[in-house]
Amino acid sequence: REQKEQMPTYKGLENFKIVEKMGDGAFSNVYHAVDLTTNKKVAGKPTLSASLCPSHIPSVKVVRKFELNASQEGDKHLNPKFKKKPRVTERANILKEVQIMRGTNHPSVVKLISFSESEEHYFLVLELMEGGELFHQIVKLTYFSENLSRHVILQVANGIRYLHEERGVVHRDIKPENLLFERIPIIPSKVPVHRPYDEEKEDEGEFIPGVGGGGIGRVKIADFGLSKVVWNEETMTPCGTVGYTAPEIVKDERYSKSVDMWALGCVLYTLLCGFPPFYDESINVLTEKVARGYYTFLSPWWDDISSSAKDLIQHLLCVDPAQRYTIDEFLAHPWCNAAPAPAPPPT
Ligand code: ADP
Ligand code: MG
Repeated sequence: REQKEQMPTYKGLENFKIVEKMGDGAFSNVYHAVDLTTNKKVAGKPTLSASLCPSHIPSVKVVRKFELNASQEGDKHLNPKFKKKPRVTERANILKEVQIMRGTNHPSVVKLISFSESEEHYFLVLELMEGGELFHQIVKLTYFSENLSRHVILQVANGIRYLHEERGVVHRDIKPENLLFERIPIIPSKVPVHRPYDEEKEDEGEFIPGVGGGGIGRVKIADFGLSKVVWNEETMTPCGTVGYTAPEIVKDERYSKSVDMWALGCVLYTLLCGFPPFYDESINVLTEKVARGYYTFLSPWWDDISSSAKDLIQHLLCVDPAQRYTIDEFLAHPWCNAAPAPAPPPT
């Protein structure tokens, strides 16, 4: 991220200085920004201050209103990204995203700091996830060791457990692009990119105090744009008037959490080998493969991966949602509870 391009300014966002682009989506741009009202002194050195006081350095997700309306009016062909990610982003959807995020408080869930809007944009001020997407780290490392995969996936799973069990929220868009690192992960340059990540060599990288799990640090769930509240946390019943709810809705709500478990299985598979479980150049073939749950543990990539990891994935990538592991079953699986390899003796 060494771009020197001119950063945009937005009417309605005068209190923030936009420093750097962090990512984008179909209708949004996410920037690293500095809150000028609370952070005047360190505005020139955002990265340094981020490590000193991360909560003061937010990021802003700027969602365009204009394209939202244009796409609603049917000229989807004008926005090529829309085809790839069809998504009805009306005002109500943004407010739902904001409301769901406001109701969450967990170390594995990206925090919403504030929300505002102007005539043309919605502004979601979020805690800055400096390390960017898990997706990019998989690309960089090729794949993760089992220990490192466990360290990452358990953080994600604890976030999902919190959403499912404590908030009654289904995320519905769990994928490596929406899982973000709090800090730039420290990956020792001595490890060749084509080799698996070696956790024991992690400390050879630069040491940053307070970052758990060696140099890889904290991973959080972002992007609640497709999330849905399916379960009333207080009464622990499906949302809506229970007495009049059709059985398929009741079943649907019971099983809707399982979409996150399928996605978790896809992420775990991808972490361990570096490519996704379902892929095909043809979208029709790919759809068919997913529908049948057709995937394999391809040799030689999967040859050295433990049978325990494979067993866990099989219980997640299971077509029948009633058979698929719930988050509690996932967390109870032996692979999740295996102790990491002991630290090497000092030399
Ligand atoms: P969309 O709904 O358009 O997919 P996201 O919320 O997923 O929007 O944000 C798009 C991208 O912006 C993410 O994939 C990520 O790269 C980046 N991003 C999102 N939130 C943050 C954040 N809090 N800190 C840093 N980068 C972020
Ligand atoms: Mg996203």
